[in-house]
Amino acid sequence: MEMIVLDTLAKLYQHGHGMFGWCSDCGFPPRYWDDVKARRVPQRAIFDIYLPALIHESGGEHPVVGLAPIPCPRCCSRKTDTRVTAPSKPMRRN
Ligand SMILES: [Zn+2]
Repeated sequence: MEMIVLDTLAKLYQHGHGMFGWCSDCGFPPRYWDDVKARRVPQRAIFDIYLPALIHESGGEHPVVGLAPIPCPRCCSRKTDTRVTAPSKPMRRN
């Protein structure tokens, strides 16, 4: 069985994966409750990462592991993690 290693951004993209980010500051519970108390709409901690743009910026050969933190689009915090989503179209098993 051939093993497919998704170790670079370009390979992730080729296999239909996407990425999203998680902001620790926006997801920090006290901030959520501050928003609720102030009757603001609580901010979501998850944000989309447009993979082609990231590839354009960092290069397709950039390793998936050890990416520099991507600033949160809402609060500009760099306390973010990146997560990989499942492929948009399932891969065929041979
Ligand atoms: Zn944030």
